[in-house]
Amino acid sequence: MSRILKLIMTICYLSFVINPLTAQSKDENNITYIKAGKLFDSEKGTLLSNYIIKIDGKRIADVGKNISIPADSKIIDLSDFTVMPGLIDGHTHLMTLDNLKDEYPMAKKVLFEGDALRVLRGAKRAKSWLEAGFTTVRDLGDSGPFLDVALKRAINEGTTIGPRMFVSGPIIISEGGQVPGLLKSKREVSEDEYTIVKNVDDAINAVRIHVNYGADIIKICANNSPNNTSLTIDEMKAIVKMAHRYDKKVTAHATNDLAVWEAVTAGVDGIEHGYQISDTTLTLMAKKGVALIPTDISKPLFKKIYDIVDYQGDKDAAIKRFKDRYQDRLQRAIKAGVTILTGSDNYLDLEMPQGEAAKNILIAYEEEGMKPFDILQSSTYLSAKFMDKENQFGTIKEQAFADIIAVKGDIENDFSNTMFNIVFVMKNGEIYIENE
Ligand SMILES: [Zn+2]
Repeated sequence: MSRILKLIMTICYLSFVINPLTAQSKDENNITYIKAGKLFDSEKGTLLSNYIIKIDGKRIADVGKNISIPADSKIIDLSDFTVMPGLIDGHTHLMTLDNLKDEYPMAKKVLFEGDALRVLRGAKRAKSWLEAGFTTVRDLGDSGPFLDVALKRAINEGTTIGPRMFVSGPIIISEGGQVPGLLKSKREVSEDEYTIVKNVDDAINAVRIHVNYGADIIKICANNSPNNTSLTIDEMKAIVKMAHRYDKKVTAHATNDLAVWEAVTAGVDGIEHGYQISDTTLTLMAKKGVALIPTDISKPLFKKIYDIVDYQGDKDAAIKRFKDRYQDRLQRAIKAGVTILTGSDNYLDLEMPQGEAAKNILIAYEEEGMKPFDILQSSTYLSAKFMDKENQFGTIKEQAFADIIAVKGDIENDFSNTMFNIVFVMKNGEIYIENE
């Protein structure tokens, strides 16, 4: 037996015998108590008062009102703040930052940036998400040849700092990818960035490739806007069947109603964007339990975008047109009973830390009539549940990872300002931000 094979077998064996749920530390030095003045119960969507969270190493050991704290214990006093599970951004592209004034940003990053520089820049952006209070992200492509897997590994091993990552690898897509204006003789540019499938067999193999190279979730483009082509229902069905066989969720970029309807019919678990979705399709989504990740833009970010591109028209009127459509779609989805998750889709250079820009997704939902506690529930418990991880994060409960943040302000009546006033960020029991 080769040494490498022996090593692999040893690792496999250890992963059986070391169960993180049972290997909890008995060392009192690893115990920390958090005093939470207000605590957001993400499962119920309510606010509790004066709770104590006991943390043992990476995990939460206990939560309650009557937990006794032994003398000389390590205490983090967040009595003046609102404590909640770390936020989850369900739609990021950490390896992409497009310049709004650039005509061909997609081609540029593949042709000129290169993998090494791209992942280093992605690492810096990842840190900004964590500092904004996102302890988990679902990174959905535009990440070169599995650079998201590399960044995730670097974060997990402590080489660099960032949120817990769930990654898709390249987007599985039909001819041309999302690189508009590409010459046919240069089609390999889109193949560097996407997994392009030509038929059902190709689609099946694409999932195998992704699972093999470390994808946690499969991201497809039902229609690959801004380009015009799309996957067929049979290709999507094959992808879903294969992905579910490997216990991976499938989420689909789908902008127009036909693309959404076809993706939902094919059995996907989530729809990204869904800008022109009809009530009939929303009803089908609710019936099949398909989540919607609306990726809406807040008014302040719209204004920033129009300022950067020096828009000469009536900015307020243009913003209102967009926001009215967003609001209509979001409210119809809520009314239909569709689960709404948060996803910023933030990949534009808005001249501010990317994580801060991403947090505007919460503000966008509030502008469109969603209540603060519903937004927080979308961004914590429901987003974790979508990944079947609601016992691990997105909730503050026994045995979950200690992914905990705190904000200063009135969460119910001044949601927007409060959410930007982060005073504490903990991921995996480690503190990244602790302000007064
Ligand atoms: Zn996106």
